[in-house]
Amino acid sequence: MSHTAPSFSELHDAVRRITQDVAAAHADDVDAKARFPHEVVAALREAQALSALVPREYGGSGLTMRELGTLVSTLAQVCGSSAMVLAMHYNQLCCVARHHAGSPFFQQFLRDMVQRQWLMASITSEVGTWGNTRTSICAVERQGDRFSLTKEATTGSYCAHADIIVVTARRDAEAGESDQVLVLLREGDYTLEQTTSWDTMGMRGTVSPGFKLVSGAPAEQIFPVPYGDIAAQSMVPFSHILWSALWYGIAAGAHGKAAQYVRGVARKNPGTTPPTAVALAELTVELQTMRHHWQSIADEFDAIAARGTDAEDLSKIGWALKMNSLKTACSNAAPRIVHGALQIVGILGYKNDSPFSMGRAYRDALSASLMISNDRIAAKSAAMLLVFKDE
Ligand SMILES: Cc1cc2nc3c(=O)[nH]c(=O)nc-3n(C[C@H](O)[C@H](O)[C@H](O)COP(=O)(O)OP(=O)(O)OC[C@H]3O[C@@H](n4cnc5c(N)ncnc54)[C@H](O)[C@@H]3O)c2cc1C
Repeated sequence: MSHTAPSFSELHDAVRRITQDVAAAHADDVDAKARFPHEVVAALREAQALSALVPREYGGSGLTMRELGTLVSTLAQVCGSSAMVLAMHYNQLCCVARHHAGSPFFQQFLRDMVQRQWLMASITSEVGTWGNTRTSICAVERQGDRFSLTKEATTGSYCAHADIIVVTARRDAEAGESDQVLVLLREGDYTLEQTTSWDTMGMRGTVSPGFKLVSGAPAEQIFPVPYGDIAAQSMVPFSHILWSALWYGIAAGAHGKAAQYVRGVARKNPGTTPPTAVALAELTVELQTMRHHWQSIADEFDAIAARGTDAEDLSKIGWALKMNSLKTACSNAAPRIVHGALQIVGILGYKNDSPFSMGRAYRDALSASLMISNDRIAAKSAAMLLVFKDE
């Protein structure tokens, strides 16, 4: 493996190739068997895409949010599950890259990530907290310079295939439910007992059943910054922006098939514009709106990061509302656009064995509004709007 980190354009070329050559060949099998997309992840490792956001000073590619979103949306056009694995990996890795606070352990972790291309997963959901990731029941128990942690997770995407898992918990047994820390667990620090199945409509390749996690590790693996700050400044922006890019990718994949279908019909009837071309034009408006939405917020995030005003700007109510609106808008738009593409293509889109099939994209897109429930998000936005005045 080369010691020079690839640039964005090199990574983008590599991810395009992986999408066309690897993801396209395996996506249906991944979906049918609800299995981990190990061929795609191996190819991403080989391309050094797993360290894409590690800052250059630690040997990574130092990609911006806009660039990461571009990689994720490229992959999502063909395999939503593989793209979700990549997006979630970036969601976890950004916590280390942005909140190591000079810790020797976490800084070394970043250097090692570049060499080892570890895959990172997370367990933030918990049995009994009802989808509210900003509260925990489980607590870290410190014994000298080590800690132990046991957690019952409702949903743990690809945890059985990851090298690293980051986990939320209360700071200690006396802490309140939202006084949380984030801990990093390496292979060997934990055992996982699968407690539920993962036979879902879509996103089947994320392999996200429930788990009981039992762990113990050195105390230096507890993040030096409270989880509340990590969530507001990194985990929420990264997940909502990269997921939105991903949902855009799924929608773009379906739109692309519809456009190809309409062009095929037009070629068979030279000199005429097929009636479905008008529906395609309308769908293109929605797709373009979706793309500009996630890209403009990604650019705004990158501008804040470049200014170094993250702690201040990303903790504002206005920013939190923007995150909620982006997530809600894109998660609703993706299935709507796939639905529109299906109406254009008709029966060939409804069939599972046609090159214009929309089934997997449709089922994958339906997970978007559930991944942190849109109702839960709307309730939070409603409370914020009572006190927020836009400039
Ligand atoms: C593909 C996929 C992968 C995932 N991977 C992971 C992972 O790797 N790690 C992880 O920790 N979690 C993961 N999750 C879990 C996810 O992040 C959410 O925490 C989980 O889906 C929420 O579960 P819920 O719908 O039961 O919870 P809830 O948010 O409690 O929703 C339950 C019901 O209550 C309603 N509701 C909730 N709040 C309100 C409100 N205020 N007003 C009105 N109605 C409300 C909702 O609409 C819904 O009908 C994943 C989920 C999916 C779909």
